[in-house]
Amino acid sequence: MTLLQASAVETFYGPSQALFGVDLDVGEGEVVTLMGRNGMGKTTTIRSICGMTPARAGRIVFAGAELAGLPPHRIARLGIGLVPEGRRCFPNLTVQENLVASARPGKWTLDAVTSLFLRLGERLRQYASTLSGGEQQMLAIGRALMTNPRLLILDEATEGLAPIIRQDIWAAIRKLKADGQAILVVDKTMDEVLGVADRCVVLEKGRTVWSGGPAELTPELQDRYLGV
Ligand code: ATP
Repeated sequence: MTLLQASAVETFYGPSQALFGVDLDVGEGEVVTLMGRNGMGKTTTIRSICGMTPARAGRIVFAGAELAGLPPHRIARLGIGLVPEGRRCFPNLTVQENLVASARPGKWTLDAVTSLFLRLGERLRQYASTLSGGEQQMLAIGRALMTNPRLLILDEATEGLAPIIRQDIWAAIRKLKADGQAILVVDKTMDEVLGVADRCVVLEKGRTVWSGGPAELTPELQDRYLGV
């Protein structure tokens, strides 16, 4: 069943148009990666879905509900858990307080999150500001999971992290996938993202230009659309 369906989405920053026709679907339990070179509209697509920069044209439907006109907190409550670029958490709260602050009923409890990220369990009483970048990213993902989202959105979750921490994050993403979590992921680590994705959607200049399975994204297509 389709969980998220975005069609012909157009989004502007003031007078400047950033999205010209984005089409994107995520099914229940599916991992979809949104790809494209820098500035092609990946973050803007996520901001449009989450209501931070609402679309001016097109349709975005999530779990049967039209998202047009809804503010971000209402969209979040429908079951979209966003881990934005830049791993936001409350620096002056402890790890535990950060996690509990976003909790909504469901299988993702403090125990479940700290079983996924053991490092968080070891640091429950530590202030978020004292965590390493990787631990803060785990906390940001943990906070999104604590909302018990039907769709988890990860925007550059592994950017700027040490390779070993990155591996921990990818291991967690693979576990979430195995657990049936629907995920929309943007990430520049191609091998890892193609290894976990069921489907890829490629943006160029604010438009969806290609979508298909990771095996169909040939080196020629990668060269044409992703410049790798
Ligand atoms: P990156 O991989 O570099 O994060 P992206 O694919 O996520 O890129 P976006 O950040 O969505 O791309 O940017 C899409 C377009 O919108 C770009 O042309 C960018 O310059 C523009 N843009 C992004 N944020 C703003 C903003 N706050 N105001 C005006 N234009 C913006």
